[in-house]
Amino acid sequence: MSDRKTSRRGFLKKAALTGAGLGALQGAPLAGVTPQAKAAADSGASASTKPHAKVPRKPLGTTGEEIPILVLGCAQKFDPKYDKILHRCFRAGVDYLDTALVYADGMSHKTIAPFIKQIGDRKKLWITSKGPGRQGTVESFESEFEQCLSGLEIDYLDLFFMHALDNTRFLDPEFIKMGERMRKSGKTRFFGFSCHGDKVVDLMNKAVKVGGIDAIMFRYSFARYGDLALNKAIDACKEAGIGLIAMKTQESVPDDLEAVAGFKSKDFTLGQAKLKAVWADERIDSAVSHIDNTKKLKENVDAARSPVQLSMEDFQQLQSIARATAHYSCTGCSRHCEPKVDGEVNIADTMRFLMYHESYGESEKARAFYRALPPAQRAIDGLDFTAASAACPQGIDIAARLNQARKFLG
Ligand code: SF4
Repeated sequence: MSDRKTSRRGFLKKAALTGAGLGALQGAPLAGVTPQAKAAADSGASASTKPHAKVPRKPLGTTGEEIPILVLGCAQKFDPKYDKILHRCFRAGVDYLDTALVYADGMSHKTIAPFIKQIGDRKKLWITSKGPGRQGTVESFESEFEQCLSGLEIDYLDLFFMHALDNTRFLDPEFIKMGERMRKSGKTRFFGFSCHGDKVVDLMNKAVKVGGIDAIMFRYSFARYGDLALNKAIDACKEAGIGLIAMKTQESVPDDLEAVAGFKSKDFTLGQAKLKAVWADERIDSAVSHIDNTKKLKENVDAARSPVQLSMEDFQQLQSIARATAHYSCTGCSRHCEPKVDGEVNIADTMRFLMYHESYGESEKARAFYRALPPAQRAIDGLDFTAASAACPQGIDIAARLNQARKFLG
C-alpha cells in the first residue's frame, strides 16, 4: 500500500472517529479534525492535476479482477439502436453495467442486449444483474438468474446479486450453496448481494462469517462516515476480501434543499464532491451512478478521471451539509419507526422511492416501485406518526414526507 493511500485512509478514519464523523453524530463542530488529516487532504489537493486517460480501475475485493471506480447504473431504458450514454461511458472506461430484473419496468435487460452485441465482444464488458428472489426461495433466485441471462442474451454474468436483501436468512447455507452452484455452472463468475436498508451491517457481518460472498453493493456516502457499526462491518468485509460497491452516493436529500447550503469548491461540483468523498475511502472499490444524460456523464467521468482529491474545506462543507439536512436523509432503519405506527405502512421503502424521485431524477422508477407496494403499505390516512418521528434517529417529519411521496408518486 502506498504512503499516500495510507494517509488517505488515516484521514478518513480520523475524520470518521474524531472530527467529521462524530461531529455528524453529535452535532459538534469540526474542531476535532487533526493536523495530520488536514495535511493528508491538502497533499491530495496539491498532487498532479493531469486527468487520467480513462476512468481508473481498482481490484474488486479478492476476485482478482479490476473494475472501473465508476459503474453505470442501468435503471433506465436505453435506445436499442444506438444509445450514446452506453457508448460514451464505454469509451471513457465505464465498461461495468449494473442492471437488475426489475429496472426500467423490467425492460432494462432487453434494452442493454443490443448494446452488448454492438460492442462485439462480451468479454469487454462487466455485467452485473440482480434478482429479488420474489418467493424468498432458492428456486426463485435460480429462476430469476436464468431470466437475467436470457433477457440480456448472454451466456454468463460477471456478478449475480441477490437484490435488496432485508434479512440475514438469505445468507443461510442453502443460499450460499446456491451461489457456489451458480459459479460452478460458469453462468456467473461471482456472487453476492445488494442491500438498501439497515440490515446491511448484520448482512455484512454474517457474510464475513459464512463466506461465499464475493461482493456487496450497499448505500454509502459522505453522510455515513460517522456510522461506527457500518464502518466496523466495512472493515471486516475488506479484511475478508469481499468487494464493496457503493450506491446512493448522492444521499437522499432533495436537491433544492442542498442548494441552500451553497457548496463552493475550486475543483468540484457538489455531485462530483460526493463521489470523490466515497472514492476517498480506499475500502470502497467502486461507486455506481445513475447516469441518464450527457451532462451528468461528463460530470461523473471528469470526477473519476481527475487525480485531484477533495480538500479539507470540501470535506468540511460536505459534513456541514450532512448535518444540516439529516432530517431529510432516511437511512432505512425501519426498526425504529415502523413498529411505532398502528398500520402496515412501509416507511423505509417509501422514503427510498421518494429519494429516487427527489435526488436522482429517477421519477419513473420511483413511481413504479411506489405503486407496486401493496395498498396497505401505502395507506397513511388516519395514522399518527408522532411516535415514529420521535423514534427516528434522523429526526424526520415522517408524516410530511409520506404525504409528499403520495403527492409525487401516487
Ligand atoms: S424514517 Fe427515520 S427511523 Fe424510519 S427508516 Fe428512515 S431514518 Fe430510519
